[in-house]
Amino acid sequence: MNGDRPAEWKKLLTAAAAKCGRPVRLMEVCGSHSTAIARWGLRSLLPESVELLSGPGCPVCVSGAGFIDRTIALCRMGVRVALFGDLLRVPGNTGMTLGGEAMTMVIYSPSEALEYAVAHPAERVVLAAVGFEATTAAVAALLEKAVELDVPNFSLLTDFKYLRPALDVLTDGAVPVDGFLLPGHVAAVVGRAGFAGLSRPGVIAGFAAEEILHSIVILLTRIAAGDCAAVNDYPAVVPEQGTPRALAAIDRFFENTDGEWRGLGILGGACRKLRPEWSRFDASVQYELPLPPPPQINGCRCGDVLRGMIRPEACPLFGRVCTPEHPGGACMVSMEGACAAAWIYRERV
Ligand code: SF4
Repeated sequence: MNGDRPAEWKKLLTAAAAKCGRPVRLMEVCGSHSTAIARWGLRSLLPESVELLSGPGCPVCVSGAGFIDRTIALCRMGVRVALFGDLLRVPGNTGMTLGGEAMTMVIYSPSEALEYAVAHPAERVVLAAVGFEATTAAVAALLEKAVELDVPNFSLLTDFKYLRPALDVLTDGAVPVDGFLLPGHVAAVVGRAGFAGLSRPGVIAGFAAEEILHSIVILLTRIAAGDCAAVNDYPAVVPEQGTPRALAAIDRFFENTDGEWRGLGILGGACRKLRPEWSRFDASVQYELPLPPPPQINGCRCGDVLRGMIRPEACPLFGRVCTPEHPGGACMVSMEGACAAAWIYRERV
């Protein structure tokens, strides 16, 4: 932003915050928002009465350490594992990462995994993927193709999250949140309708600096009014009812299940797994992977960061032993992780 714009936004934000009549805690639940807010130093425009926390919006950060353990186990069975590069540096329960595993193959799109399996029929290929609704929809579309092509050497190991139930946990927690900046990418799949029933106000936001600031002003206004119906402030991308084709593909292949969100524990119905009728694509069934052991505690406070109880800077390891070059926890690994964003753009936070 140039010229007078920051000062104008400061005024607007201050006026909107004053209507709340009390300190408020907002939370962005999208890793891309965390990065954008840190990159542009948007926190510096907020009045003191508004705290903006980073929630569980980075898929790499909230994936259970057991997922990494199981992916390492697949590599050691001689299975080719296709994954996004961020996963290579996330520690599993034993502290080991996928970085040293020769059977990994870094991809930039899930479709590369299927193409590789088709081109190498003698190899066993697993797509290891984590993510929210946008990634789940992309992988469901890929499965439609795998069914059509009948690719017997291709399967999935996934840790897909269903965001909506996790928001309720954040409003019921020890440090309740007053309102959410809702993720535009997830909303493009589920629509504004996918955020029905929130107990706190929420605004679906775009990703440009002024789009985010505009959504924060609306969010403060909704908090002041006590209106919890979600607002779509990204209508060019987010349809009211979401994307029917993507929702149908997700529903065809996946069902909701209980599962671990790193830092939040086991959440009821907040994950997605392959339906039993598609077990031929389920690597955990095909390769009889053991269930993961319980997570270890190593001093990393990712859990508190992801619940909005502390800012990353409050973790005693932040910037000392934990940096993006040497991550001590999942939140420092991905560019979308709250700790990585806070460290990289620290002078502007
Ligand atoms: S700074 Fe590092 S160790 Fe601390 S909570 Fe963040 S990722 Fe974990």
